[in-house]
Amino acid sequence: MKQIHNPESGHHLVLHIEDNEMNVELAYSIFEEMPGLELIIAADAKTGVSLARSRLPDLILMDINLPGMDGISAAKLIKETSETKDIPIIALSAEAMSDDIDRAMEVGFEEYITKPFKVSSFMDLINSILSGNRLKT
Ligand code: MN
Repeated sequence: MKQIHNPESGHHLVLHIEDNEMNVELAYSIFEEMPGLELIIAADAKTGVSLARSRLPDLILMDINLPGMDGISAAKLIKETSETKDIPIIALSAEAMSDDIDRAMEVGFEEYITKPFKVSSFMDLINSILSGNRLKT
């Protein structure tokens, strides 16, 4: 298995696949408060999947409603590729329908977060996943 990151470097790469500019701005402001984390953005799923393969981020934040391919299909592609299948993916969605959540969790998302979310809990979640201290529920 390909190593996703060097745990001793203290540096983590996070890929955010998000088409909404305000949400991208919010993500940048959150990540400014999180030293050691580098944020890269893809505005659509196709670009996101290809960045996941070329950059091998430590974590992916996936918007569900995207132009063209949706976030669930994109996550499925990422999970079907051996180089990227172990990258944790957090779903970020305005959809709170339980059918959507069920459909999403089948793909293997680490967590499903409904927007708007509490910034401090979001940061805690990212830190716990990246530090590998997260208890799988
Ligand atoms: Mn969107």
